[in-house]
Amino acid sequence: MKKIISTKVCIIGAGPAGLSCAMFLAQNNIPSVVLEKEKFPRDKICGDALSGKVVSVLKKLFPQTLQDFNKADNTIGCYGINFIAPNLTNIEIPFKKDFFANKNILPSGFVSKRLDFDHYLYQRAKTFEQITILENIAITNFTKIHSGYEIEDDNTVFQTLLIIDCSGAQSKFVRKTIQKSLKLKEHCAGLRVYYKGISFTNDGNFLELYFLENLLPGYFWIFPLPNGEANVGLGIRSDYVSKHKINLKQKLQEVIESIPEIKKRFENATALESIKGFGLPLGAKKHAISGDHYMLCGDAASLIDPFTGEGISNAMISGMYAAQQAEKCIVANDFSANFIKNYDTQVYKRLGPELRISTWLQKLVQYPWLFNFVVKKANTNKELRETISCMFDDVDLRKKFTNPRFYLRLLFG
Ligand SMILES: Cc1cc2nc3c(=O)[nH]c(=O)nc-3n(C[C@H](O)[C@H](O)[C@H](O)COP(=O)(O)OP(=O)(O)OC[C@H]3O[C@@H](n4cnc5c(N)ncnc54)[C@H](O)[C@@H]3O)c2cc1C
Repeated sequence: MKKIISTKVCIIGAGPAGLSCAMFLAQNNIPSVVLEKEKFPRDKICGDALSGKVVSVLKKLFPQTLQDFNKADNTIGCYGINFIAPNLTNIEIPFKKDFFANKNILPSGFVSKRLDFDHYLYQRAKTFEQITILENIAITNFTKIHSGYEIEDDNTVFQTLLIIDCSGAQSKFVRKTIQKSLKLKEHCAGLRVYYKGISFTNDGNFLELYFLENLLPGYFWIFPLPNGEANVGLGIRSDYVSKHKINLKQKLQEVIESIPEIKKRFENATALESIKGFGLPLGAKKHAISGDHYMLCGDAASLIDPFTGEGISNAMISGMYAAQQAEKCIVANDFSANFIKNYDTQVYKRLGPELRISTWLQKLVQYPWLFNFVVKKANTNKELRETISCMFDDVDLRKKFTNPRFYLRLLFG
């Protein structure tokens, strides 16, 4: 006989989406039960890059987040992105346009292994008495009942009015209950391997994105980590992987060994683990992300930025909106699809414009010549460099890249 636990709000998955959601609920004094199949601290295959958006969401819960990140031994501050074009010319774009003039400014991005970052969130969440986190609970069954859902692992049945599904790219709830599947073009295959001893020349810990010709519209990355380590990986859209029958692990080795500029940097480097892979559900298309008695957040809702691959911040933002909607549902005692769909409106109002622009940008980078051209121009054109720099804070500026007139001005300007 299985044990029965009843709770108004049940969150599946204790990643950035689930833990943020639980903490925003707790901030408004709403209890929740978070079910997690692993035991913390636990790893998650990722590039480990945390954007300024992550810091701004966390600051709503903990105003001292930036200070925490700056003093943590397991987190490194980074100041910008180094874009390497298919012809291996590069352009270093700082997150703050005055970085090169004033090196005393604080970093606005960070890199932290997910083992550490998710554990930081977990420890934060444990400080709220309203949050119950149950680990080693892998949910496998979902049954719709009149008042909500019954969800189960091998030993327990959880009865709940509201499921907030934050169980990531391989969500069983999405597959079994909603039966939604993404098109290959809305999905990216990613690999990660930690290294020690790669040589770096940049003193701002810039994230390095190599847009190599045979990876487009994906890229190979090297992200610095504390203690001389680095997160190395690549992501390629799944339709390309399938069409060109790409063996991703072989491709990663090939990139490291066949490009002299990269090979040289790995001469004294050692891989700290075997290459590991995981999927990225991209926010390339708007989907319904809620229904009767449920909401989907983060990767379960396919909210990863299609151009950059950034998903942690969007997961946390969707977790925050899900918490706000959950409160409204509880107050109105209304968990119907019609009432909950306000959650979809809020999420897409906030993230829709940037996801649309990034979908466009992802299409544009399929053309190596265009990428080479923009990098060449940016190296000689201060205004363009500053525009790209400001793009990280300002979605309206990113729109420029989707406007053909922008390229005409570049050509003839
Ligand atoms: C190779 C790669 C590189 C990436 N690089 C970056 C990057 O540099 N920066 C960035 O911002 N994003 C990156 N992303 C995307 C990022 O990892 C995700 O968008 C982010 O982790 C989504 O958070 P989440 O909380 O939705 O899901 P997850 O982080 O996947 O958390 C889901 C949680 O649910 C648990 N779970 C799953 N199933 C069940 C179940 N049945 N029952 C109970 N618990 C369950 C899991 O154990 C996990 O703890 C990358 C992704 C990949 C694959």
